[in-house]
Amino acid sequence: MKIMIAQPYYWTDPMKGEFEVEIESILEANGDCYVRINEQVTKPAGGGQAGDKGILIIDEKEYGFIDTKLHDEKTVLVMKSSPARKGKALLKLDMSWRRAMMTNHTAEHIFVGVMKKKYPELILGWIWVDGVHGTVVLEGKVIPLEEILGTETKVNRLIHDEVAVTTKVVSAADVDESVRAREGVTSKNDAIRLVNVGEFDSSACSGIHVTNTRDIRAFKITDVKAQEGNTHIEFVTGEIAVANLVETYNIALTRKYSYPYEIEQLGAILDKSKTLQISYGEAVDKILQLMREGPNKEQLETVTFWHEYLQGFEISTLRHLIKELKLTEPSVTLFLTSGKKTNIVLWTKGMPKDAAHYITDIVESLGGRGGGSADAYTGGFTEVENPQELFLMIVEKVRKRILE
Ligand SMILES: [Zn+2]
Repeated sequence: MKIMIAQPYYWTDPMKGEFEVEIESILEANGDCYVRINEQVTKPAGGGQAGDKGILIIDEKEYGFIDTKLHDEKTVLVMKSSPARKGKALLKLDMSWRRAMMTNHTAEHIFVGVMKKKYPELILGWIWVDGVHGTVVLEGKVIPLEEILGTETKVNRLIHDEVAVTTKVVSAADVDESVRAREGVTSKNDAIRLVNVGEFDSSACSGIHVTNTRDIRAFKITDVKAQEGNTHIEFVTGEIAVANLVETYNIALTRKYSYPYEIEQLGAILDKSKTLQISYGEAVDKILQLMREGPNKEQLETVTFWHEYLQGFEISTLRHLIKELKLTEPSVTLFLTSGKKTNIVLWTKGMPKDAAHYITDIVESLGGRGGGSADAYTGGFTEVENPQELFLMIVEKVRKRILE
């Protein structure tokens, strides 16, 4: 059944940007000016989309409007300065804002459509689309980043495939399960406007859309956050997405020649940089502790046993250091470093037995491996969950061994 309802211009001809309008009233309140016009030509804010922006031209003078609202079924333009008079005016829309709302909003349909196919249990929460970017909150699940980036690829494929986006007004009774609609939409309205992205997605919507997915040009996720069990996603489309990608790529490209690396390695470099930053912080903490409390030395009968847990340090640095330390005789010195790997070194000076005697089987019994010369032993562990706990266990066992 076909139903006739009044269709505003922004539904039937969203690319028309100029209109003759009649200003019916002008009201100033709270520092803004509200100008009511008789024609429904601008899109009011609502349904998760911002309102139109543009200018009114009256007697060759321009007055900008920054938003459009619907008040008592009438179109109201929000302005910063009051027009000189009521009556006839020429209205010009900010078409780059309008176009970006159309591409952002249509991309949102496709993105949510892909997500809902993958996770039917998801609920579409808060949405916001304006002439800059889009925000979508998917409720009921924290979706892994890789899944969302995979969806981004699918959205871009649908853009590349140049799929027609069509709209039709149908009776609410004709809307079935295959249509995505907000809770209660079909019971509150007699007529429903359907927006179809080819065969791919159908949803009930009163917003503005492009007529072909090719007009979106590009879809780029710019942020993904987990929020109280929901997933919050930000994205951009069109010229803004392209500019964003170019800018990001060029930052990497500029650095490519100041720090030699290939762009494909960027992820690994960022990971490495983060690891180094963490190690630096840990090493500083350890240095401060040493300055505060002094070295961790204990006297076991005649033997001086020195043991330090050195998070954030490199084992090679310690090998250099040990040569410069003035160790007493007899002594056993045990250092454990933890970073990506957990390494252990043990030096002896003036002890009756080789370094290996005090440590080899202890390290092996705890799942590590190592070896060394008469007075130095080096070993390591992989995938240690709690290196500090491991260190305390080793210290305890070495202490017993020295006292044997
Ligand atoms: Zn829509």
